[in-house]
Amino acid sequence: MPEVPGAISTASRPAALRALAAERHDLVIIGGGISAAGIARAAALLGLRVAVLEAHDYAAGTSSRSTKLIHGGLRYLALGDIALVRETARERKEVHARAPHLAEPRWMVLPSRSRLDRLKYRVGVSLYEYLGAVASGDRHQNWSRVELEHEEPAFAAQRHPFACVYREYLTEDARLVLANLRSAAAAGAQIVNYARVHALLLEGDRAAGVRVRTESGDELEVRARCVLNAAGPWVEDVRRLESPELAKGWLHLSKGVHVTLPAARLPVRNLFMLEVPDGRLIFVIPRGSLVYIGTTDTTVPGTPELWPSVDLADVQYLLAPLTRYFDIEPVRPEEVVSAWAGLRPLIADVGTRDPTEISRRDEVLIGPRGVVSIAGGKLTGYRPMARAALARVGEVLGRPLGDPEDAAPLPGGDFTGDLASLERELTRTHSLPPLVSARLVRLYGSESSRVLERGAELLPGVADAVIGEIDWAVEIEGALHLEDVVYRRTRLGLYASPSDALLAVAADRMGKRLGWSTEQIELERDRVRQRLAHDLAFRA
Ligand code: FAD
Repeated sequence: MPEVPGAISTASRPAALRALAAERHDLVIIGGGISAAGIARAAALLGLRVAVLEAHDYAAGTSSRSTKLIHGGLRYLALGDIALVRETARERKEVHARAPHLAEPRWMVLPSRSRLDRLKYRVGVSLYEYLGAVASGDRHQNWSRVELEHEEPAFAAQRHPFACVYREYLTEDARLVLANLRSAAAAGAQIVNYARVHALLLEGDRAAGVRVRTESGDELEVRARCVLNAAGPWVEDVRRLESPELAKGWLHLSKGVHVTLPAARLPVRNLFMLEVPDGRLIFVIPRGSLVYIGTTDTTVPGTPELWPSVDLADVQYLLAPLTRYFDIEPVRPEEVVSAWAGLRPLIADVGTRDPTEISRRDEVLIGPRGVVSIAGGKLTGYRPMARAALARVGEVLGRPLGDPEDAAPLPGGDFTGDLASLERELTRTHSLPPLVSARLVRLYGSESSRVLERGAELLPGVADAVIGEIDWAVEIEGALHLEDVVYRRTRLGLYASPSDALLAVAADRMGKRLGWSTEQIELERDRVRQRLAHDLAFRA
């Protein structure tokens, strides 16, 4: 098969590890979330020799647990974060231009009880559109009760007869990370997952690289002129490798939970932003055969966990308001199909206790041994964050780096026309059920055909995922474990309830490619079953 640009092949992992140790890099990046991926792409495009080291899988931390909106955050206007809103609202177009499959424009419905409330929303939305330089054809609309009843039959339009409806963009967070990492790899970056940084290499009193342990226990040294810490919720732990005396307190960790329901239980066509009794806003987002609802925002003291728990109180908080807005029977926690929780690595605001009120701004610091650390921010603002981080990297390297020329599309983003036409084209050329093409184009964009070449047969128990995705994940996207495929490549762990039969087929297929023993295949399946059970433990 023809070569795929920027492939991160699992089979070539041993060679990648050897190459990492052999070379002196300009920049080694700790972490494999959106912050690291954006910086890696920008740095590689500037011609720097870049290495990326991720302790788990790419996007295994916060960057696979978001609400999956590429948005300016309308609600941050109320907090007075005008500069942040302007930047991220404008970034929506930039992300869309590079990856139209990973930034799909959708209507967001903001319902209200009275004309006066709608007027308040309209003022906010108009300012948001002005800051985001939104084109006239994409500006908000005002829906009446009749329009609401027509567009959203399940919505309780008699109680909320007005709505302001505006554009937001929907992404697939972990796949946006992968697309940026692959783009960095295509520009020469060396990228490895399951490789934890556990110490710094020093030359005098300056950081000159990192010491890494792979999950199989191999130790290696990766030398670099500059070390960058993009470890998200773990950024302070990595900072203490630089100096154990560095006090905690830079970050404020806040947990956010999402739950999914069958689409038939909450049949919505558009995205919704709803005000809940404590004054916060939550989202309702339809996705394939499910709809997800999120998010919570609660302070998490102590050590960040990779798989934070989804608690019954979180689930009840998200489900309780639904009957205020929709004409549906109350939803019970047992009806939840899947759930996920993530930690926001926010920059602590002295004196602000309520995490909802903490700014989503980012910050870059240079530590006592010259390690550049970045935290805060949002998925949406990953490109400006990368530029800010590289300005500080330039200080460490002793030369200004300038901005990269990064207008080229991300992998899968090189198609003309909109997603709907790509979807129709795939349906036609491969004689596929529309459901399958709809899902594939939103995950793989213009690369969908190449995924299908590897196997167009449906995976057991699902109506829209194909077997070729397993091979693609291993050959092109560096998946090393079944969990990587289920959660962060195909996203079936989030938007489906993968059956034992599906896990068996997927594990066998991966096992054949990666030479797994029967015991390992069983182990991989068990690990995913445990993950799925962990996220739904509140139902017990
Ligand atoms: P992470 O994604 O956590 O990446 C850090 C990585 O570093 C991890 O993968 C970790 O394994 C790795 N690591 C840690 N220690 C080491 C080590 N020693 N060696 C090697 N690797 C290490 N933003 C939006 O724009 N839109 C949204 O809709 C949105 N919704 C959100 C909803 C929720 C519930 C949450 C929690 C956040 C949301 N965000 C959203 C914010 C956004 O998701 C985060 O800002 C972003 O994902 C943070 O990415 P990161 O790369 O900094 O951290």
